[in-house]
Amino acid sequence: MKFENKPLPGGSSRSIDLLVPEIRDAAKKHLSLCSENGIVLLIYCTVRDEWEQARLFRQNRPLPLIEAKAVSLRKKGFPRLAEILMEVGPQGGDYGPRVTKAGPGESAHQHAVAYDCVPLRFGKPVWGASRPEDAKLWKKVQTLGVKAGLEILSWERPHFEVKGFNQNLLEYMRERYE
Ligand SMILES: [Zn+2]
Repeated sequence: MKFENKPLPGGSSRSIDLLVPEIRDAAKKHLSLCSENGIVLLIYCTVRDEWEQARLFRQNRPLPLIEAKAVSLRKKGFPRLAEILMEVGPQGGDYGPRVTKAGPGESAHQHAVAYDCVPLRFGKPVWGASRPEDAKLWKKVQTLGVKAGLEILSWERPHFEVKGFNQNLLEYMRERYE
């Protein structure tokens, strides 16, 4: 399995060169569309390895939910991904907000077809969208991402991915992990 031989330094990267060409081109288009509209966009995560994804998934989740994900990964035919989820161990946290729905291997970041980004205002990242001016900024960033050919997720504001990833998740996983 190729993913076994290639753990990323630090578990993740922000380099768009690691993305598959199709999404790398879309990312470049997204950046230039933002720039044309006076928005500075920071891409802060592109590729994330399975161990890092497992850690993120475990954050703020109680053990039964983690075990249920491991069972589901095994059932789908990915025992090694289930092992990774269990072997990264407890991640602390206080059952606050969950950062991802995807277990190891289930996020587009493991397949190099997604990136996370945030607009900057006066050099500072604008994470939230509760203030009207922030919501407007994010709306523009998302509209331009869609224009660049990407798909957005309603539950993960900074995340942009290749079209059709979720519908084809099982094929992506089989391709990479079987
Ligand atoms: Zn993401």
